Amino acid sequence: METALNVLLAVLILGGSALLTQWFTHFMYIRCRRCGMLNARRRTHCRGCSSLLREDTREAG
Ligand SMILES: [Zn+2]
Repeated sequence: METALNVLLAVLILGGSALLTQWFTHFMYIRCRRCGMLNARRRTHCRGCSSLLREDTREAG
C-alpha cells in the first residue's frame, strides 16, 4: 500500500512539474506560427524568420 502511494506521489510530482514547465513556457514564450521557434514574449517579431508574432504591433509599455 505504501509503495502504491509512493508511486502515485511520484507520478503526481512528475506530472505536476511537467504541467508547470508547460505553463511556464506558455506564459513566457510565444511560438512562431510560421516556423515554430520559441520567442520571448516581449519580442514582436520572430528571431528565426522575422515574421510578426502578435496581431497588434503596439507595445504595452
Ligand atoms: Zn518564425
